[in-house]
Amino acid sequence: MIRQYELVERVKSYEPGADEALLNRAYVFSMKAHGAQTRASGDPYFAHPIEVAGILTELKLDSTSIATALLHDTVEDTGATIDEIGDLFGAETARLVDGVTKLGRLDLQSDQAHQAENLRKFLLAMSEDIRVLLVKLADRLHNMRTLRHIRDAGKRQRIARETMEIYAPLAERIGLQAFKAELEDLSFAELNPDGYRSMEAQLDSLRDQAGGIVERVTESLTATLRGERLRASVSGREKKPYSIWQKMQRKKLAFEKLTDIVGFRVVTESEEDCYRALGIVHRNYPMVPGRFKDYISTPKPNGYRSLHTTVIGPEQRRIEIQIRTRDMHEEAEYGVAAHWLFKQAGEARDDRQQRWLRPLLEILDKASGPEELLEHTKLEMFQDEVFCFSPRGALITLPRGATPVDFAYAVHTDVGDTTVGAKVNGRMVPLWTQLENGDQVEILRSSVPQPQPAWESFVVTGRARACIRRFTRLKEREQFVALGQAVAEKLFREAGEDYSEALLEGALARLKQRSVDDLLAALGRGDLTSGEVDEALFPARRLQGIARRALSVARGRRGTKAGDGGIPVRGLIPGMAVHLAECCNPLPGERIVGIVTTGKGVTIHTIDCDTLEGFSDTPERWLDLAWEAGAEEKGVHVGRLNLIVANETGSLSELTTAIAKNKGNISNLKITSRSLDFFEMLVDVEVRDVRHLGNIVAALRAVTSVSSVERERAHH
Ligand code: MN
Repeated sequence: MIRQYELVERVKSYEPGADEALLNRAYVFSMKAHGAQTRASGDPYFAHPIEVAGILTELKLDSTSIATALLHDTVEDTGATIDEIGDLFGAETARLVDGVTKLGRLDLQSDQAHQAENLRKFLLAMSEDIRVLLVKLADRLHNMRTLRHIRDAGKRQRIARETMEIYAPLAERIGLQAFKAELEDLSFAELNPDGYRSMEAQLDSLRDQAGGIVERVTESLTATLRGERLRASVSGREKKPYSIWQKMQRKKLAFEKLTDIVGFRVVTESEEDCYRALGIVHRNYPMVPGRFKDYISTPKPNGYRSLHTTVIGPEQRRIEIQIRTRDMHEEAEYGVAAHWLFKQAGEARDDRQQRWLRPLLEILDKASGPEELLEHTKLEMFQDEVFCFSPRGALITLPRGATPVDFAYAVHTDVGDTTVGAKVNGRMVPLWTQLENGDQVEILRSSVPQPQPAWESFVVTGRARACIRRFTRLKEREQFVALGQAVAEKLFREAGEDYSEALLEGALARLKQRSVDDLLAALGRGDLTSGEVDEALFPARRLQGIARRALSVARGRRGTKAGDGGIPVRGLIPGMAVHLAECCNPLPGERIVGIVTTGKGVTIHTIDCDTLEGFSDTPERWLDLAWEAGAEEKGVHVGRLNLIVANETGSLSELTTAIAKNKGNISNLKITSRSLDFFEMLVDVEVRDVRHLGNIVAALRAVTSVSSVERERAHH
């Protein structure tokens, strides 16, 4: 394990102005946070973040990145929070740690090989700051290096497959050749141990046959170059088992020659020296025709630059040689990461950030094949998408602006229909919360379907909208049928008859209805009045009593406006004082009845108001009323809500925001009781109609701090 001072020294070696204090604090914080946790290997857990930080010093990343590496698992695996990281290590570090933590969700995803491409894009999209991706890749590299310690073979396989399919290609994509090769090789060893062993065995035997040839060729080449006064370092490098294996698979060949497994590399001090070195090599050794490539004058699409040649070298061996400068070498090994060297130490952070992203975008820009081009196009399209996860790690792609309700419907209609709440990243959120890349969404469900009409105002997917509409229509109809049935039952009772579906069926034609349910729904909705239905059911029955007269007055007066109070209700007796009952606060859209009280006029109640029970013995005092068409536009309608709200910071503003967002206007708010944990309050809200109030109730129910919302009904 790298010691604290060693790590700091390494960073200082390439970044003289490194923030030493930051590194020291991050090191100690990580060690303390991970405490007694251990890895599968039995090592203390904090050895892992420290090794990850160590790997990143090889890329010469800045101290913020190194601190991020040290802290990268503290939020996911210890009690530390992002806020805490922000307070202790600054906003930039916190942002990076947060990014890495979110990428960590990917590790949860189960066997979804077919999603590999999506997941790679997810990683790119998430890594708004490329340093996040680099920390993640280093994290994965260290986990792969220590993979053998994990006992569960299935888990090892899953991690290796994921590395092969997602992380290695990503490393390649951003030009991190060194990471890519090692990730592939470690995965290969896990996924195909036989193949790996056979590659190693053949490498060993070739090495034995060659007997120190690599060293001798290296010395010989070095001497040749030095003889011509060219300063360069020469090295021989064996290819990795996986890359040989791949080459063999691709070309369907067996490997038997040293040339197949060793490459020589000449690193010079300048571009000019590259061409000089090439000249020297070609003058001294016969060149194999057709193998020379100049990637300096014409770099590869990913930015790779080098001269390649194959010659019959020392000891008559055919050898491949790459010639490049140190800069080119670093770029070849570390890709975009190489641009993050502290050459730019003095620049403003934003500039650095830009510089950092540009090479990545350029690489994508220079994409060669149609496939890569397509990929780039898709990358730009990410602007319109968000990538979210289920608690079990399934990746759900949604349009930007999507909410937990959209997420739920994207998972399954049943999930959407039974949604009652949502947790995003473990915290309760309102259902209209817009999801962000990497959010982990958990849907809280009820046992019965109950989508809310109000959801329609914030969902963005057509699927969610269609499902909500269908359900709402169905539900409304059910309610109207039930209401219509209650009204019909009352009509039968008043006529002294037993409730009879047959009789209702007999009246269908006259009322122009297709079925009994249609009839009841129309009656409930108010498309048919109880008087009309009564006449159709009992045409011969003479209207008797005051109640009947009142009803007939109501029918006769349909459409007349109330003279009093400006209450837009039809069926009132002209000149009679009228007011809305305070026990139920009727709203347009609700079924209403009037109760006539001598000297007081008419009091309007909702049909389900408890108060009406007190008048059940005096039907002569009931008036059948209905709201005028467009009543919601006339006058001010106030709904009264009884709320129980958690007594915590921000809860009041959350609920007022919810009401305001739904275009409700609070006209009065009264706290009726208050305890340590909860407020109970009455809130008067100006609304258009009962549906509007219903939307507000639904929105309030979705507010985390609101524990209950009921329409206020005073009981008498
Ligand atoms: Mn980690």
